[in-house]
Amino acid sequence: MTSPSRPLTPAMQQYQEAKRQYPDALLLFRMGDFYELFYEDALVASRALDLTLTARQKDSAGGGIPMCGVPYHAIDGYMMRLVKLGHRVAICDQVEDPKQAKGIVKREVVRVVSPGTFTDAGYLDAREPIFLAALAPLAIETRATEGRRLLGLATLEPSTGEFTVTELEGDRAVEALGEELRLLRARELLVPAGSDVERLLVDVDRDGLRITAVEPSAFNLDTATRVLLDQLQVAGLQGFGLDGHTAAIAAAGALVHYLRDTQKVDLVHVRGLSWREKRDALIVDNTTLSHLEVVRAIDGSREGSLLHVLDDTTTAMGARRLRAWLLRPLVDVAQVHARLDAVEDLAFRAVERGKLRETLGSVHDMERLVARIALRTAGPRDLVGLRQSLAAVPRVRRIIEALQSPLICELAQGLDELADVRDRIAHTLVDDPPALARDGGLVRDGADGEVDELRGISRSGKQGIAGLEAAERQRTGIQSLKVRFNRVFGYYIEVSKANLHAVPPDYQRKQTIAGGERFITPALKEQEERVLGADERLLVREVEMFDALRQAVALEAPRIQRTATSLAALDVLAAFAEVAARHNYTKPQVHDGDELEIVDGRHPVVERLSREAFVPNDTRLDNTAAQLSILTGPNMGGKSTYLRQVALTCLMAQAGSFVPARQAKLSIVDRIYARVGASDNIARGQSTFMAEMQETASILNTATARSLVVLDEIGRGTATFDGLSIAWAVAEYLATNARARPKTLFATHYHELTDLADALPSVVNAHFTVREWKDQIVFLRKVVPGRSDRSYGIQVARLAGLPRPVIARAREILSGLEQDELQRGGRPSLTGMPRGHDARQQLGLFQTLGPDDKLAERLRSIEIDQMTPLEALALLAELKADLE
Ligand code: ADP
Ligand code: MG
Repeated sequence: MTSPSRPLTPAMQQYQEAKRQYPDALLLFRMGDFYELFYEDALVASRALDLTLTARQKDSAGGGIPMCGVPYHAIDGYMMRLVKLGHRVAICDQVEDPKQAKGIVKREVVRVVSPGTFTDAGYLDAREPIFLAALAPLAIETRATEGRRLLGLATLEPSTGEFTVTELEGDRAVEALGEELRLLRARELLVPAGSDVERLLVDVDRDGLRITAVEPSAFNLDTATRVLLDQLQVAGLQGFGLDGHTAAIAAAGALVHYLRDTQKVDLVHVRGLSWREKRDALIVDNTTLSHLEVVRAIDGSREGSLLHVLDDTTTAMGARRLRAWLLRPLVDVAQVHARLDAVEDLAFRAVERGKLRETLGSVHDMERLVARIALRTAGPRDLVGLRQSLAAVPRVRRIIEALQSPLICELAQGLDELADVRDRIAHTLVDDPPALARDGGLVRDGADGEVDELRGISRSGKQGIAGLEAAERQRTGIQSLKVRFNRVFGYYIEVSKANLHAVPPDYQRKQTIAGGERFITPALKEQEERVLGADERLLVREVEMFDALRQAVALEAPRIQRTATSLAALDVLAAFAEVAARHNYTKPQVHDGDELEIVDGRHPVVERLSREAFVPNDTRLDNTAAQLSILTGPNMGGKSTYLRQVALTCLMAQAGSFVPARQAKLSIVDRIYARVGASDNIARGQSTFMAEMQETASILNTATARSLVVLDEIGRGTATFDGLSIAWAVAEYLATNARARPKTLFATHYHELTDLADALPSVVNAHFTVREWKDQIVFLRKVVPGRSDRSYGIQVARLAGLPRPVIARAREILSGLEQDELQRGGRPSLTGMPRGHDARQQLGLFQTLGPDDKLAERLRSIEIDQMTPLEALALLAELKADLE
């Protein structure tokens, strides 16, 4: 930073003071019609926003303070761009009317926005949440838990007020933290300044995540507790299940502290906090989510994801809720049943469902409206939107009265009509107000005596002016004379050039324009004062009334949120029912036992996107006789699709959705793992074998007997022998490890793995079939028991036109390999190369060479390195003689 050679002006001193409070934010400092940035901030912003850099307090050497600025009315757009780039932005405004200020205008930072706190509509995607997170690292050093990590993690969706806290513990805490942040796609993480937390975060994916250091005292247990009690307006935290969870409290308290400090308003939309334990949800890690394309397809788009095919919600709240349900399906059988029963209720009542969906269609994003109201960024249209949404509530109630499922009845009880709020908005605001209160004209006639009176004065004044126009025309005889208004002169009389000679002497000339001249008269100015005075006071009064209304509605935030939550859940349930009815899904029978049986299951996305008719398939898994299924079959046979459809079916069911199958009996699973061999996975841009192995390791370390594992071509990312060995060992471990034998589907092109079924009772084989028809291979896409015929590849090669001798030779080599394998008692082997002591069998493969064993033996024993050229020649002669 260049230090200015001259003393700072008072304004710049004010600037320095504000900047001191927010050193790591870009400070936008209001001066006249601009927000200005100085020093380093100016350099950063001018580059980021492509603004012209100038200098303030220029010195003789041409230096000065670097500066750039943006016009005040365009601030929203610039703020959004800076936040999108990951910056924190502090807005320093004039907090008194410049006209009334004595000396320099008072300025204060009124709001600080950052990637995790910015809630302006233009920044948000209605269907996706944003998250702000806070991390409280706590290492408890008792003897029993020496060196074990305990992390408190709080997350808050600032645009809705959804507030959750959890604790992560043990060796895998940091990994779990990374998972959690990526799952939520948190935009900003608060950490205590000066702690060793940076070291902790080296393994966390920080792409798109801003790390903000907050004063450590905010994480102090006492401070945090006090802040939380105050924010949640309760006397103790026990009711939230937080007793003794000190790391969680520290994180949650620090988060609230930060949000209050930056938003500078009472966060009335944050009045609840849910404590979450990991085991509350079906765990689906990020790798699995991306392989299964749950919320995004492999190419990153929404189309092609499970979320996309299931999203028949009619509100933005419902869309976000659906997403949350898919990311965190349930694990409690009773809760799953409750959702499924509700969906069933709606699925079979097409009329009610249709009415419900139609009514929900008129509901705005109440969750975000409430937050904007609380944060005082809501405009008149937002409040009218809330009123319209609330008007739908009694109708929703009446419609769902006909339904009986307990969950729907419970949701119906959560619906508060909020007639008081609705009426107050309706009485105060006109039906179609302007977007901003400062544009005026928003208060309904009859709502306020003062507004009515001022409007009366203004109206009669304007009529007076209109009358004045007529009177002046008559007096001067100028028929084209006009009374007009602009912001510079106020009201004036305009006379065209041709009529200037008729202008009376009491007209005062104000301006000459191309076609004539503009005048004022004392009478006109008198009327004008009446009108403008009234308009000005009117606007002040309207804004005042709007603020009061918004404040009053903000106080009802918790009630509105409860209602919004119920509406969102109803929307998702209705969407599940709609999709089920339209696409022929069935209600799964979800149970606590260990059998998984799917009859005629389909892949929910492929069946919709593919032009080919989808071929349904069955699945049977349990934890004893069919725990691990080895799937083989030709490339393009349908293996990958099948694996995913089974995993998706389980996930959908536990989220509460019907499933794409004729019949499904599903055991509750605690985790779903999907892994894909590296070479099959290039699209992900991270096709290293290392990643594949890390992902596999995490399954072997964390899967339980209740988990579902789908492995697609694991071991493919390395050399054949290596890969086969790893695939074999992984499958064997999953089938025999006593601690956890998860239900597993294992698709592989290593045919050797099918031998596992002979050795292990819990392993079964299944394969995909093909038919040869005329000159083509027809993929039947049907999975059947047993191992596949391994020669499909050669069949395909023949149809592709490889020369006959090559095909014949390939068959020969293949059968040699197979014999070889049998001789080795079922141990895996795959080779075409001679291998030391096994040479005899190898040579068996190469019969067409017609080798003479004795000759071969001799050749093998010679060491060429040790021979002179002469000796070599002699040996050659000898061998030839032997042969003849
Ligand atoms: P593999 O993993 O065996 O190579 P995939 O699962 O990738 O095969 O499937 C290959 C193609 O066949 C995909 O394009 C998919 O759309 C289609 N497909 C897979 N299963 C089915 C099915 N059951 N019915 C119809 N088409 C299918
Ligand atoms: Mg595949």
